[in-house]
Amino acid sequence: MEESRDEARALWHRARSLIPGGVNSPVRAFQAVGGDPVFIQRGLGPRVWDTTGREYIDLVMSWGALIHGHAHPRINAAAARAVERGSSFGMPTPGEVELAAVLVDAFPFMDRVRLVNSGTEATMSAVRLARAATGRDLIVKFAGCYHGHADGFLAEAGSGALTLGHPSSPGVPEASARLTRVLPYQDIEAARDLFGREGDQIAAVIVEPVAGNMGVIVPDPAFLPSLRQLTEDAGALLVFDEVITGFRTAWGGWSTRTGIRPDLITLGKIIGGGFPLAAYGGPAELMDRIAPAGPVYQAGTLSGNPVAVAAGHAALELIREQEDFYERLDRATGAFAGNLREIFHRHGIPAVVQHTTGMLTVFFTDHPVRNLHDARTADTRAYARLFHALLDQGVHLPPSAFEGWFLSSAHEPGVLDAVCERLDTALKDWPP
Ligand code: PLP
Repeated sequence: MEESRDEARALWHRARSLIPGGVNSPVRAFQAVGGDPVFIQRGLGPRVWDTTGREYIDLVMSWGALIHGHAHPRINAAAARAVERGSSFGMPTPGEVELAAVLVDAFPFMDRVRLVNSGTEATMSAVRLARAATGRDLIVKFAGCYHGHADGFLAEAGSGALTLGHPSSPGVPEASARLTRVLPYQDIEAARDLFGREGDQIAAVIVEPVAGNMGVIVPDPAFLPSLRQLTEDAGALLVFDEVITGFRTAWGGWSTRTGIRPDLITLGKIIGGGFPLAAYGGPAELMDRIAPAGPVYQAGTLSGNPVAVAAGHAALELIREQEDFYERLDRATGAFAGNLREIFHRHGIPAVVQHTTGMLTVFFTDHPVRNLHDARTADTRAYARLFHALLDQGVHLPPSAFEGWFLSSAHEPGVLDAVCERLDTALKDWPP
């Protein structure tokens, strides 16, 4: 049943009276772009419909979780079959083993993988394991990278934390924040200096191998190998947080695409096919420290949930069946990014479009964005204007300048051309 605009407003009012800020994850509240969020009723392929019946081309794609678009029939059928057998048992199920086998097979350095419910759990657990394995406490992260909301990561964090202008959070104990060192993304010299001073106390460096949470930044080719070398020399672990890039940028992820081997990897989003599922994994000598194989505790009532596992497995199978899946996604993203550049250029609007396979960001600036400092110089008010101009035209962008725009295999050329046409129209009277 479709609602009137007044009913939609009443729903938002009601949400705010019941849920902090009206939403269950901050960025959804549109604070960075202004206005009221649209409540989504349903989605199909590359499109969503709000409660008033308005249709949008969706470039949020559940923040990258949906690589096949909304409501893919194969994924839905797999989830439905699973739920008919029972939604949760809290006991082992065969599907968990099947999904683990696919994940282990995808990463040459991975022998074991533990399934969890969210990316936050995956990164939190990977860091606990790194600390246990090294007997050290310090964690190094990069400003603007987001690794979920565990205490130690909420220091100069990206994503929603950045959007709200609170890249750190009250409630994070000093003692916890003191164990996190934050470096500028891609600053190898700063990393060398830090390792020179404190290398023997560093348990792990955690990094988004392609940044997605301060907008999309593909690092220079030397960055990740330098981190690999520094950590190896210092006896610290390297953790690739591939919650976004895993199975988006290549089969496996950025580590398989580049051949750079981290010690541990965290995955999420795509591997759950749109359901709550994430994972962390690595070689047996590390992962066998996890309980009950070893002493490092980590557990979950719903971990390896059979419905999420079935959906995730179906999503990965759908990718694996198409040999040229990533080539096509890469071509589509590259062509779309090129068209966006051309349109902004033609309208005389300074904009930098940074992309890799399946993800891109438009920064309103005239220089390449290499780190959080650069990202912050981009014009966020212009982004907010663009967001609303396109929302009016039926295109739903991420409601923050610091996020990736996510494509799926359902975003066929015609759909992306429609986005470009609507952008062209929106820019005709820019600023609106
Ligand atoms: N790591 C990265 C790179 C992410 O982008 C995110 C979420 O966007 C997380 C970790 C946290 O995942 P979740 O939101 O599932 O807790």
